[in-house]
Amino acid sequence: MGRLADIKGQNRVIDTLKRSIKANRVAHAYIFEGQNGYGRRTTAIAFIQTLFCMEQLRYDACGICKSCRKIVSGNHPDLHFLSPLQDKRDISIDQIRELQQILSLRPFEAERKACIIEPAERMNEKSANALLKTLEEPPGHAIIILLTSHADILLSTIRSRCQHLRFSPLDKNSVKELLIKQGMTDEEALRLAPLAEGSMEQVIKQDAGLDDKKRLELLAILSKTSSKRISSIFDTAEAFAVNRDDTIRLFDLITSILRDLVIISTSGQAEISNRFMLDMLSEEAARFTPSDLIEALEIAIETQKAIKGNANPKLAMEHFLIGYYRLRKGV
Ligand SMILES: [Zn+2]
Repeated sequence: MGRLADIKGQNRVIDTLKRSIKANRVAHAYIFEGQNGYGRRTTAIAFIQTLFCMEQLRYDACGICKSCRKIVSGNHPDLHFLSPLQDKRDISIDQIRELQQILSLRPFEAERKACIIEPAERMNEKSANALLKTLEEPPGHAIIILLTSHADILLSTIRSRCQHLRFSPLDKNSVKELLIKQGMTDEEALRLAPLAEGSMEQVIKQDAGLDDKKRLELLAILSKTSSKRISSIFDTAEAFAVNRDDTIRLFDLITSILRDLVIISTSGQAEISNRFMLDMLSEEAARFTPSDLIEALEIAIETQKAIKGNANPKLAMEHFLIGYYRLRKGV
């Protein structure tokens, strides 16, 4: 568990990290840059786990020693995480000062302390400046890893003090393997992988930019419309597909719901983005086979593409709904 060898699709980054361990030239500050879902956090944790491991095997963590087990269970006293506090936009200067305090203490079990800051671009100018000195001379050889989707937003003075590693989009095969690891069958994973667009987060979570009320309404309408009354499909299409831009946005919502349905139906995992309506989602998911849900998701993605490519929104919406209710069991 949690070894560098388990990271999928980031061979270049993993090689660099392993070589630095082998040459005993681990930097004290890193920037891991890449989109959400590329594996930056998992890699950062596996890297720290390897550095802390008591039985390192070929420049990788053993996965079973006491230190490894503590990291995997999220209980290692020398690994710290720093993110904006709940409901706060920025990582505050107070948080950075507190971190500096923690890093200046003697490590409890490992040889050094480590901290993962995420997302690093949420440090404001004050907190970033406060961090600078620590990056230059980390107390007790602490190691700091900044995770970001946009390294160019970080202060150049921060960037120049860190080793910068870029994560690439995941290839389909890596996504497939990760999905299988999460409990999907080979066949399900094979069909779902191309929809990931290089990021596990694209499969697991969609953006949370749309409000909960709209998500609930949409699911309620989807689950109430009856395939037996074709007119109700047309009514729903009429109500949904008001204009092109709104319909395209609506399909973000539809695919987000469908991805959740697929996840519930295939792996039963709780890793869904619309958690607040889990009960309704579970009920809806029960009306499909996993394979049919993946097909519904495929239709939704195709339909959204068609609308972006100038298809008539209302007709395209009808096409999607007809497909959806063809696959859905029951009334
Ligand atoms: Zn170990």
